[in-house]
Amino acid sequence: MSGTPIGRVVIAGGGTAGWMAAAAASRFLNDGQRTITLVESDAIGTVGVGEATIPPIRGFNARLGIEEADFLRATGGTPKLGIEFVDWGARGERYMHPFGTPGRDIEGLNFHQLWLKLRERPGIGDFEGYAMAAVAARAGRFAPPSPDPRSPLSGVDYAYHFDAGLYAAFLRRRAEEQGTVRVEGRITGVEQDERGHVTAVRLEGDRRIAGDLFLDCSGFRSLLLGEAMGVGFEDWSHWLPCDRAIAVPTERTQPLLPYTRATAHDAGWQWRIPLQHRTGNGHVYASAFTDDDTAERILMANLDAAPTATPRRLSFTAGRRRQSWAGNVVALGLAGGFLEPLESTSIHLIQEGIAKLFALFPDDRFSPVVRDEYNRLMADHYTAIRDFIILHYAATRRRDTPFWRHVGSMALPETLARKLALFAEKGRIFRYDDELFTVPSWVAVLLGQGIVPTGYDPIVDALDADRVAEALRHMRRQNATLAQQLPPAG
Ligand code: FAD
Repeated sequence: MSGTPIGRVVIAGGGTAGWMAAAAASRFLNDGQRTITLVESDAIGTVGVGEATIPPIRGFNARLGIEEADFLRATGGTPKLGIEFVDWGARGERYMHPFGTPGRDIEGLNFHQLWLKLRERPGIGDFEGYAMAAVAARAGRFAPPSPDPRSPLSGVDYAYHFDAGLYAAFLRRRAEEQGTVRVEGRITGVEQDERGHVTAVRLEGDRRIAGDLFLDCSGFRSLLLGEAMGVGFEDWSHWLPCDRAIAVPTERTQPLLPYTRATAHDAGWQWRIPLQHRTGNGHVYASAFTDDDTAERILMANLDAAPTATPRRLSFTAGRRRQSWAGNVVALGLAGGFLEPLESTSIHLIQEGIAKLFALFPDDRFSPVVRDEYNRLMADHYTAIRDFIILHYAATRRRDTPFWRHVGSMALPETLARKLALFAEKGRIFRYDDELFTVPSWVAVLLGQGIVPTGYDPIVDALDADRVAEALRHMRRQNATLAQQLPPAG
């Protein structure tokens, strides 16, 4: 028995989440029968930050038919090859978490295992020198991935830095051209039927918008999923105590560097994100360990250029709604959860939420099987990203402030503790289900933070060590030479 197709999709909120959902829905769900309506309130506005992304954003844009050059022009976008972490493992240390893969596996054996075995031999050098994206980023150069598997550029991947407000405006134009109807107004309440499903949102001025499926993109307020449906919040702040941010733009710096920088401070960390027209900066910190004025002083003292606006303060709690989908309401973006932007994953979580919703698009029966599968997939996705972010705090050797003493000795989620214990022995890492971060990402952060396993996987002993060492030295030289030949990033 099949149900009736959903006719009316209502999107509550027009931030990055709302307009990404509207642009995707009006392209893929607009069969001529279905209406897509987005309600937003200019008076309330958006969260107004969110500038760094990870490579899957390119796939999202491509599926919407967006040309890269148009997108970069409209959003002030720049290429991003990874994230540089400064002062995380210990003060004075820095490492790169590059996109793509480091080195090349030899005869099917993991590259990092080969490096672990041979790392002390002459000419092998640090792990970072094998990742073409990291080497190019450090040289301030950029080139897209090469389809030629023999080129070191075949291991490169990239994302973007961009102005999320301009991205939302760009997507809005496309969504409206594709038939999305935008309604301006503040949502003041919801109407629900006897099952608890939302039947309409009420707007100021005695207006109402009825719908069959509601996408809650209302930001931290979580108007529909949290407030109307009563879905509780799972608080993760005992692992991720940062709960405040201060953001400030500065003038554009020269040369334009193709990576995000995350610099650890006494009770949090500072981002630096280079865009075409300005640089985005912000200090993310834990209010239990410092105060707002101190945090602002630290931010302003660590800027590379003159501020172009007054600093803006934000608060949040790390965690997620216990379900992403309840009844006929699906939350996307901040309405569904928040993880600090250390690995630039929030916009990705919106993209993932949209993709999984389309893959499991309901009919008017709102099958619990479909809903439960969506909730399971999103819970797994959030949890895996959460663990990867906690890793940066857990794998520190810093003990110089109360904040670092706290995060460096806190009890970890069992999933992460297991991963760390396995890596510590022989550098083994496994990726589960469709977990976002790959083995090279875990290895880059673990080694970057100074966690070096006591051994290596003995399977690599099957290869001739001298021959492999020579192959590694060759890869390293190739990366260094090629980086100098690439064009400057901007
Ligand atoms: P919002 O932008 O808050 O939009 C909510 C929408 O709902 C607005 O249109 C608002 O008007 C509307 N609304 C709310 N209430 C009502 C109402 N009653 N009636 C009508 N409309 C209403 N993500 C990244 O991927 N990379 C980053 O580098 C990054 N950095 C971040 C830094 C900080 C400090 C923070 C806090 C977040 C960062 N994020 C980042 C997350 C990113 O900002 C969000 O994921 C993204 O902007 C999506 O926000 P949203 O659309 O869910 O919510």
